[in-house]
Amino acid sequence: MTVKVGVIGTGMIGQDHIRRLTEVLTGSSVVAVSDINKEQVEKIATAIGARTYTDGVALINDSEVDAVVVTSWGPTHEEYVLAAIAAGKPVFCEKPLATTQEACLRIIDAEVKHGKRLVQVGFMRRFDTAYRQMKDVVESGTIGAPLIFKSVHRNPSVPPSYTSDMAIVDTAVHDIDTARWLLDEEVKAVSVIAARKNNRGGTLRDPIIVLMEMESGAIVDIEVSVNIDYAYDIGGEISGETGVVTLAERNRITVKSGGEYRGKVTADWKERFVEAFDVEFKEWLDAAAKGTATGPSAWDGYAAAVVTDAGVEAAGTGNRIKVEMRDRPALYA
Ligand code: NAP
Repeated sequence: MTVKVGVIGTGMIGQDHIRRLTEVLTGSSVVAVSDINKEQVEKIATAIGARTYTDGVALINDSEVDAVVVTSWGPTHEEYVLAAIAAGKPVFCEKPLATTQEACLRIIDAEVKHGKRLVQVGFMRRFDTAYRQMKDVVESGTIGAPLIFKSVHRNPSVPPSYTSDMAIVDTAVHDIDTARWLLDEEVKAVSVIAARKNNRGGTLRDPIIVLMEMESGAIVDIEVSVNIDYAYDIGGEISGETGVVTLAERNRITVKSGGEYRGKVTADWKERFVEAFDVEFKEWLDAAAKGTATGPSAWDGYAAAVVTDAGVEAAGTGNRIKVEMRDRPALYA
């Protein structure tokens, strides 16, 4: 079956997902695109032979559209995800699911009322081969019960519009979701400590450590450095009761010469996670073809919002902030 997809938001990642759906994967065709930028959307639609909309809700209600991808600006996500649920159509929503906890809960309530999963949230690390192998090791019991997860998230630089809170809400959010998924438990409390400032980042609070206490008592320590210059570098290590599992370096080759050895570090997140994005969309299409969704759920989007809110409060006040979440509905068991 070919899944006929409508894409709302044709900016940077929207265009990348359209390329993925039209040039990389089989089993889908992008039949409609929507953006408030009329000129941009028409150019993209012409290139792929899709219909254009300036109103995302009209795209969702197009009877030709089987499933929806939301890659517009974060504050628009709630409206489009709710409209997709109302239309009974599977929807892939880039993170954030919505920009407030309350909005995430409205989406959860709508999906629970609908009675089956339709929403997948764009936490692509869950589809990365190395992280999946790490999770397999944890679940196999090889390293015993996890005690500490150290996650490293380093960006070479960020644009001038990047704020200190974005280090938690936009950057650490991926590590937060990865921690919940790898350790298979919720976060109990969050603290944030800032290191001596990296002066390359001007007034930004950078780098920081986001310290999370998990329900089991395991600790998660996330380094977020967003002006570290040398490369985009992602690291992860879980210490368990009887062993350790570590993400290996990504380079395919190392070069030895002049008494040294060298390898490559990825330049940016697109390069580091390109295969993960492809797998993420392949699995989304497989589920969408059956009229449902798998992968990171609306519950995961809500949990991310609650934990990042706690992180922003912890960074602003210097306090340890308890994480309070609603009970998880059976749909997300
Ligand atoms: P972007 O380049 O600014 O693209 C957003 C696009 O949506 C722009 O073309 C914008 O138009 C358009 N838009 C705004 N309001 C709209 C509306 N009401 N209806 C339709 N289109 C609308 O941003 P981006 O970097 O692609 O990010 C988009 C989303 O993906 C964000 O939520 C971001 O957090 C997420 N993202 C996730 C990852 C990841 O690692 N998973 C990576 C990057 C981005 P204008 O430019 O005219 O406002």
